Amino acid sequence: EQELADEDDELLQARPPIVTVMGHVDHGKTRLLDAIRKSNVIAGEAGGITQHIGAYQIWTDHEEIDRAITFIDTPGHEAFTAMRARGAQVTDLAILVVAADDGIMPQTVEALNHAQAAGVPIVVAVNKVDKEGANPAKVRQQLTEYGLVAEEYGGDTMFVDVSALSGLGIHDLLDAVLLTADAGLDLRANPDKDARGVAIEANLDKGRGAVATVLIQSGTLEVGDAIVAGTAYGKVRAMFDENGDPVTEADPSRPVQVLGLSSVPRAGDTFMVTEDDRTARQIAEKREAVQRNALLAKGRKRISLEDFTKALEDGKVETLNLILKGDVSGAVEALEESLLKIEVDDSVQLRIIHRAVGAITESDVNLATIDNAIIVGFNVRPDLKARQAAQREGVDVRFYSVIYAAIDEIEGSLKGMLKPEFEEVQSGVAEIREVFRSSKFGNIAGVIVRSGTITRNAKARVIRDGVVVGDNLAIESLRRFKDDVTEVRTDFEAGIGLGKFNDIQVGDEIETTEMKEKPRG
Ligand code: GDP
Repeated sequence: EQELADEDDELLQARPPIVTVMGHVDHGKTRLLDAIRKSNVIAGEAGGITQHIGAYQIWTDHEEIDRAITFIDTPGHEAFTAMRARGAQVTDLAILVVAADDGIMPQTVEALNHAQAAGVPIVVAVNKVDKEGANPAKVRQQLTEYGLVAEEYGGDTMFVDVSALSGLGIHDLLDAVLLTADAGLDLRANPDKDARGVAIEANLDKGRGAVATVLIQSGTLEVGDAIVAGTAYGKVRAMFDENGDPVTEADPSRPVQVLGLSSVPRAGDTFMVTEDDRTARQIAEKREAVQRNALLAKGRKRISLEDFTKALEDGKVETLNLILKGDVSGAVEALEESLLKIEVDDSVQLRIIHRAVGAITESDVNLATIDNAIIVGFNVRPDLKARQAAQREGVDVRFYSVIYAAIDEIEGSLKGMLKPEFEEVQSGVAEIREVFRSSKFGNIAGVIVRSGTITRNAKARVIRDGVVVGDNLAIESLRRFKDDVTEVRTDFEAGIGLGKFNDIQVGDEIETTEMKEKPRG
């Protein structure tokens, strides 16, 4: 946007919209991308696009004019959000795929929250309308609750019934994409300058070296250009389109495979053309040094609930962004409703940018990173990748097992008075590797302690796939071999008996907690 404002209006030319397809698993994203590919009115060869290069462009007849649309060929919001976490937003518009027989599912909501958080307009493809039991009207009605109101109901979101299987409605869907883009987006770029853009996919090829698919955002990329992409640099040796055909130049919104980089850039790395390859190399080396230093200066801290309260006390106006995750939809809804009812000063705003059922995932942490949000987990935990990402990015993840406690704490923070109270801190995590049946003690979990220390008198909970399945449990027995012990440290094995609680399985985690007085300020 800034770039557009800086450009001379006369130099700007219309560019095709760049579209990402999102939606719940199995709702037909991949099939839809196939059907769109096949609908290309200017197919080079029979069957059209033959290569997977991470994105493709098709042409469609729109109001009697042939127009291009670029599709990101990796469906789902994970890639989209991972790129945003790098600071790159390539998507102009999202197609939200919803299967008409299934209706709204958890990842449907997740996808639309991610698109909305990025400010990306949505066109809804109601898929599988060929199936028995398809209920496209119900999909429209369900999505109304999430702010997507169909045009036919007086809203401004376009819904198109499609069958990715038969090809029905695909042309209408492409029309809807162009209409939505034309109505709400200023998609223009200056093609007459050195290219800039984003790497969306890259790999190391045995014969060809680093192969990167880049999406041009402005300017025109030419063979022979010196470029720097993230910390990779080089001269463009050759370029290929999605048919595998060589091309000599690529203009805005065009995806191309580029050969000639020194190393493999990461998805989301931006690239630009430089004066010569020496300059490209210098920039790349400087970036590498900066990255190294950033790693050394680790411990980047993002906002925590405590920081927020402190900022309020200092008289700053703040918005608190929250991501809510819970084990059941009723809890997530109750939490959201109660939070939105909290009355606060005009200077304070609470925004719930995403809510969903299930374990805390890496894509939740990515979203929290981008929008500087706090994650609230109700009876759920992060999976391993999410835990590592949260630690790396310094995202505040708070756990609650009582709704009232969550509301109380957040309300306190919003009112600038976070009470110095007791907080629950994790003292140990153990993974269950075997379950022994014992007539005397009930089931015994054979565990290995993964972090911290498990102590005999701690409170325990059992977590399965990130969701709490047993809470507030006492450790009735803690043994190493035949000996009763009071604590077991990281990397040691032990047997844990949870008394009457017998619902344990291999792969579950046992987490122990202690109450500690919270530090103030
Ligand atoms: P994705 O996980 O969202 O990428 O879903 P896929 O594209 O892999 O589709 C999941 C399943 O639904 C596959 O078995 C598809 O053949 C099927 N499918 C996709 N679109 C349609 C459709 O329009 N009609 C019918 N009947 N089946 C479809």
